[in-house]
This record gives sequence, C-alpha cells and structure tokens, in this order.
Amino acid sequence: MTQGGTNLPRVGDYNQAVVLDAIRTAGPVSRVELAPLTGLTSQTVSNVVRRLLAAGLVSESGFAPSSGGKRRTLLSPRPDGAYAVGIQLDPDAAVIVVVDLAGEVLDSRRVRLPDPGDPAAVVARVAGAAQRLTARTRVDPARVLGTGIAAPGPIDGPAGAVVKPPNFAGWGRVPLLGLFAEATGMPVAMDNDATAAAIGERWIGGRQRAGSFLFIYLGTGVGAGIVLNNTVLRGDSGNAGEFGHMAVEPGELTCDCGGTNCLGPYVGPAAIIADLYDRHGKETAERAGLTGTPESVHDDWRALRQAVRRGDPAAQDVVRHAARRVGQAAKGAVALLDVSRVVLGGETLRGIESIMCEEIEAAVNSTSVARVIRPITVEKSVIGEAVGAVGAASLILHGTYAPGWQMLTRPPA
Ligand SMILES: [Zn+2]
Repeated sequence: MTQGGTNLPRVGDYNQAVVLDAIRTAGPVSRVELAPLTGLTSQTVSNVVRRLLAAGLVSESGFAPSSGGKRRTLLSPRPDGAYAVGIQLDPDAAVIVVVDLAGEVLDSRRVRLPDPGDPAAVVARVAGAAQRLTARTRVDPARVLGTGIAAPGPIDGPAGAVVKPPNFAGWGRVPLLGLFAEATGMPVAMDNDATAAAIGERWIGGRQRAGSFLFIYLGTGVGAGIVLNNTVLRGDSGNAGEFGHMAVEPGELTCDCGGTNCLGPYVGPAAIIADLYDRHGKETAERAGLTGTPESVHDDWRALRQAVRRGDPAAQDVVRHAARRVGQAAKGAVALLDVSRVVLGGETLRGIESIMCEEIEAAVNSTSVARVIRPITVEKSVIGEAVGAVGAASLILHGTYAPGWQMLTRPPA
C-alpha cells in the first residue's frame, strides 16, 4: 500500500484546502460565491478549482438557478476523491478508521494492545491492522493520501515523537511519526489526541463548529483541543491544551507532574471507580456490579456506567464529583480563551454525557462574560466515540487548520 505513481496533490496545499473546505461546508456552490467565502480573488479561486477538478477532489454538479445572465456551474466535493487512515492510540487499544474526503467512516476496527511495552511491536501490529482494514474497504490505494496518528501526549510535535506518555509503561522518547511512516510506507501526520479530535470536530462539524470552541477529550486521561477563530492552537511544542494539569480544588491525589491540585488524577475511569470505593464503600460498589481489581477497570467502568443510567445515587455522585472538577478547569479555560462553545468527546464520555454536560454548563456559565454578554453552550461531539481516530484522519485530509505543521506529513527520506 504505497503511494507510488500517483500525481494526486496533497490536500494540505493551503489555498486548495481552504477552497475545498468552503465547497464541502457551503456546497453545492459556484465559483463566484467561493471568492467572498474564502477571501481569495476570483482568479485564484478559478485556478484552485481547476486543480481540484483535475485531481478528482471536486466535481461539477449542475447549475445554479438562472438569474438572467450566464448560468453558474455548481461545485460539490467528491467523497471518493481521497481517503485517509486515522489511528487513535490508547494504552489498551488502538482505534483505526478509513475515512473518505467527506468525512464518512468507511470501516473501522479496534485492536487490543494487552501490553504496550515495546513501541516497535505496537507500531508493527497497528500498522498491519491498518493495512488490512484499508484493503478490506477496496478503495483505490492511489487515493489513500496517508495515515494520521492521534497520539497520547506529551508530544514533541516538531520532532514527531511522544515523550513518556503516562499509562504507557516503559515508553521513553518514541519517534512515533518515523516508525509509522516506515511501517506504512505512506505520509504520516501526528498530533496529540485531544488536538486531533478538535480538528476532526471542526472538519466534520462544518458550520456547527465554525469559529471558536474548547474540545474536552475524555479518554484514559483528560485533554483539551483548542480551536480559536477557526484555527487550531498547538503551541510551540504541540502540547497546547494539557487540560489535565489545570488547577482545581485540591484533594488527596497527586498528579504525575507532582502537582497536588491538577485535574488529571480525578477524571478517567480508574479514578472515578476508586472514588466510588473510597467514599461509598466496597459494599455499595459491589452492589453496583464492580469487582475492584486493577485488571477489571474496563468491566468495572461498564458496570458503573450502567449504574449511573439506572439512577444509582452513589454512581451518579462520583461521576458528578469528577464532572464538577472538569467544570472548574473548563471555567478557567473558557475565561482565558473567550470561546462560546465547549464540545465534549472521547470514549469515557459514553453513558455519563448528561451529568458531564450539566456540571460543565453550570461552571462555564458562571463567568462574568457568560452572564452579561453571551451564554456558553456545552455539546457532545458530532462525531461520537471515534472522534480521536476520525480527527487523526483529518490531519491528512484537511490541512486548513494546520498551516506550518507540514513537516509532519512527510515520511522520512
Ligand atoms: Zn499535573
């Protein structure tokens, strides 16, 4: 599955990405309408559209209703124009998707990683699974532009490495970008998982996600992605949005950074399960169907989620406690960034959405700007659980929000 022999241009070309995004979100749309939508001159729009048509990324799809003069040709995106593979890497599993240019997931799978100890073995296993998944979709291999990785932070963005990610025992500095490029033979882009998720949300959400928003990603840990005025914020090293280190009401737990008032240790399945045992006792936890062993976090979380849905007061209480702390951190971030929307996503959100939304909504709307100027909405991701993996694919398919990060999209020489 190499890219040999294709002349397909990278979607990452900035003007092409801008025009393509405008066609995707506003389409079907005429060339004349595209100039004001993109801020480009009509001559530039014309040239870019010619290149997009030649590359098979858009098609002419009829005419606009006549207003007397020459009828305007309408342009639509071609979902089959390009594809990308997206991989979300978590400590116990990798989620892999194959996505088309319209953002549709053609196929997906989850690969268990019982022991993420050896990075090279993890990469080989995941890259192999991604290749088999892509083959299963039967898409034209020449149109698969590359593989995007949503990696656990912290990352060294410019170097394409992850550096001692928590929950990946034994991982030091791992050049994940180069390892995946070598294993797949394709261009690879990498970002931290919450940022990738935010980019995916912006891409798929279209007009619903235009402007600015804070994306709170709840997985094994917690992270945030920031989109400000339609541009993703990465910071100098690619670690903007290290939400887990936001200061909240202190408790008993110490963060892996040494801090005693970081949000991170209080959210995530293991922490919420431990809180149920600590504050409500073993008996209550067992009645709710939990077993409380370190190996049973996955099953215990499912039991706790179901207890929340049944209305179990202890289960709801511990989730609400965690949600309040997330709300405290979100309030600070929202005040700092002046976003009017908070979006929640990630695997851990499933089953606890309503409590999370409620508590975060109350917290972020207690700022003075929210009170006197505009309320802040809190919503679930439009993508759902696969948001990290779809976001990873969007790193390849959608370069608009990522100017300056192109070095990550090239395989090593
Ligand atoms: Zn910390």
